[in-house]
Amino acid sequence: MDYQNILEEIQNEIQGSLKKGKLANYIPALEKVNADDFAMSLVTLDNKHYNIGCTEQKFSIQSISKVFTFTLALKRYSKELYKRVGHEPSGDPFNSLAQLEYENGIPRNPFINAGAIVTTDSLLSIYKNNTFEQILKFIQKISNNNSIEYNEEIFKSELNHGFRNIALINLMKSFKNINNNTDKVIETYFKQCSIMMNTKELAQAMLFLANHGINPPTNEVIINELKAKRINSLMLTCGHYDASGDFAYRVGLPGKSGVGGGIVAIIPKKMAICVYSPKLNAYGNSLVGTRALELFSTKTGLSIF
Ligand code: GLN
Repeated sequence: MDYQNILEEIQNEIQGSLKKGKLANYIPALEKVNADDFAMSLVTLDNKHYNIGCTEQKFSIQSISKVFTFTLALKRYSKELYKRVGHEPSGDPFNSLAQLEYENGIPRNPFINAGAIVTTDSLLSIYKNNTFEQILKFIQKISNNNSIEYNEEIFKSELNHGFRNIALINLMKSFKNINNNTDKVIETYFKQCSIMMNTKELAQAMLFLANHGINPPTNEVIINELKAKRINSLMLTCGHYDASGDFAYRVGLPGKSGVGGGIVAIIPKKMAICVYSPKLNAYGNSLVGTRALELFSTKTGLSIF
């Protein structure tokens, strides 16, 4: 299949949609991006790379970081972690407080904010003061790229405007589902959201999920096959918050979005994809990114169904 040609077709076909959607504006730092940027990268298991658009442009990975921290936590925990965070779609926005109150401080899944905050708390119990460094080191390792870093301005902006996330962590603490100091947990969570990567780096970093948990460049087992299956399943059912059903219906692949405008998607046993376009739909997912992935799975016939 001529993937490069397909990427070119997609780039042409999404042009009309680049005007639609809205930049994330819950923190000022996220609005300082080029609103019309578009990039898409594919990396195959046999190390072929296909790129289109501004694939060198770094952006804040935001909720895509939830896949990395959940993977890191699952390496150490299994059943214990699922007592503290579920595996059902929430049907609610990513930062919703309502369901958490009804459900006694147990978040529905690790890919909404509350679930990711619990995951980060579980990492703090292992790595203590070194937690963010360990998260970053893990991302650098699976990307085979030691230059990946976080953005201090975005981190500070998250911290200064993090009222809902701070409410979420306090609510969970009241239900005894946060074990560490809430300030430390929330700081680590905001730092992981502020990590900057481009589409090439993100596609590379996700490749182990297309390969039963083994990272193709090094053959290192990042996570066992069963856990890799579960992470993919959760991406399919929960990776786009209350639009997860719509994403599955349109794209038919496990995926995870972030409000920075990135989306990663996995084609099992074939490749990892990352698309970037910062304007979001009403659910906080990249509008053009979703469209581009829908075009890709339709044109190639490569969905999991
Ligand atoms: N930093 C964002 C938040 O905590 C991440 C959410 C997202 O990407 N959906 O609200």
